[in-house]
Amino acid sequence: MTTTATISANLPTDIKDVHIQNYINGEWAPPTNGLFLDKYNPATGQVILQIPDSASADVDSAVKAAKAAFPLWSKTPVSERAAILLRIADLIDENSSILGTFESLDQGKPVFSAIHFEMPMCAASFRQFAKLITDGGIKESESRLESMITPTSITQPKASITESVTQHIAAGVAGLITPWNFPLPMVCFKLAPCIAAGSTCVVKPTELSSITSFLLSHILHAAGVPKGVVNIIFGSGLGAGEPLVKHKDVKLISFTGGSATGARIGALASGQFKRVSLELGGKNPAMFFDDCNIDHAVTTSIRGAYTNQGEVCLCASRQYVQHGIYEKFVEMFRQKVRSDIFVGNPLDPRTFYGPVISQQHMDKVLGYIRLAQEESATVEFLVNPNDIAVKGVSSDGRLTIEGHEGGYFIAPTLITNIKQSSRVMQEEIFGPVVCILPFGTEEEAVELANDTEYGLSASVWTLDHDKLDRVMRQINAGLVWGNNWLNMDQDMPFGGMGCSGNCRENGKYSLEFYTEVKTLSRHVFD
Ligand code: NAD
Repeated sequence: MTTTATISANLPTDIKDVHIQNYINGEWAPPTNGLFLDKYNPATGQVILQIPDSASADVDSAVKAAKAAFPLWSKTPVSERAAILLRIADLIDENSSILGTFESLDQGKPVFSAIHFEMPMCAASFRQFAKLITDGGIKESESRLESMITPTSITQPKASITESVTQHIAAGVAGLITPWNFPLPMVCFKLAPCIAAGSTCVVKPTELSSITSFLLSHILHAAGVPKGVVNIIFGSGLGAGEPLVKHKDVKLISFTGGSATGARIGALASGQFKRVSLELGGKNPAMFFDDCNIDHAVTTSIRGAYTNQGEVCLCASRQYVQHGIYEKFVEMFRQKVRSDIFVGNPLDPRTFYGPVISQQHMDKVLGYIRLAQEESATVEFLVNPNDIAVKGVSSDGRLTIEGHEGGYFIAPTLITNIKQSSRVMQEEIFGPVVCILPFGTEEEAVELANDTEYGLSASVWTLDHDKLDRVMRQINAGLVWGNNWLNMDQDMPFGGMGCSGNCRENGKYSLEFYTEVKTLSRHVFD
């Protein structure tokens, strides 16, 4: 058996050597239509490479390969599947610096967090599912039922016993469709449970940040993933994503992305009776009570607002602060952002956040800032006076960064005095923009927090344990933190309610998704 010590993924280290191609049936190939899309560096606005603009024909080849690989892979002993997952994890760790640097260049996220937090999470995902399947996988259910049935005569029922057990079997070919905010982690969180469960797949990563998924294909290849088990198709949502959703041989769709896209994919997939998992957007509240630890709360509130340029589905974009500490809290927030946050080149280790992903996305975020201004809200751009890279800020918050004048940078934006009913408070902005409003009572906090269509996450801040427990239990969200934000165990269920989705991922919840469950019920003879 191959060991990690003897294998290498031979990843390129220079962007000039990255030539993205589809990975189908264990081989790399350009799209059959010969078309490519320009990919822009968000920090400069310049084209850095091209990605395949794949279409139905490529999707079809990829699905064929996944379907052909399924019978053998689904019967491959768990120990062999786990060994391959562990080799993938080791190769991700060995290449975390290359992967993290490309992720930062491609997506705009700060390089430190890409290398030191996100790549380790990718490796951890493969290790987690290797362990889960070697520890027995999904626990099967059993039952023994005494019932009246008539094995010999219709007129004289006789007591008998029925024993039942469940059997989980790999489900088939899955389509995995992922967004751009955490490009590689989003792929790994789906891919690891899928192949651990014995299913095979076609991955359609985001067209806006594809480099690390392409590099992952080299890691999978080097780790010995058999051909066809994982296929990766690059391209747009409509050109490559939708044919994958509609393909008759794709049994499952796991999608993470925006709610509007999720609604369309959900409708297409369920019309064909496919199982579909939707992890969607959020408009997540944080509630800070008078009796919270204000230093801890303000620091975390800033992280919740601006981490990853605010491009985190779990971002605390609506913050509610109780009257008693409201003024102090907001002033501490302003001062700390102005002193601690550096915006600029994502490859500079000092940078707290970089550019947003694209010109189109920047225009969308700036549009929400202008809307708040039109609605006479108070809009502040909290630029750090010591951030010497910042050369200017426009009236709607766009930053000019020295040496990166064409980049898609937005100032840390604070909005107050805005109506709860405003679109700015109700819709996902997905940028470095936070709204902070005051509240009076506990009941009011719960009502405001629950007042959106979304239900992904929330956080509650108070040192009163009874209140903490009471409030956390009343919030309509899949994930509620107490005196905390973003810390979570990759084994605990993750997912949202309402417009935030219809499923739970992680641990056994993910394994279950990629399997079919059968009930085997048999009569026990006397
Ligand atoms: P998006 O919906 O625009 O795209 C996501 C993926 O879907 C991309 O790969 C895209 O090409 C593909 N796609 C687009 N249209 C498609 C179609 N018609 N058929 C098939 N595929 C299609 O989302 P995005 O802008 O890439 O990502 C940002 C969104 O993702 C935000 O709303 C964010 O909250 C959400 N998100 C949610 C979670 C979560 O776990 N709940 C995690 C990360 C991001």
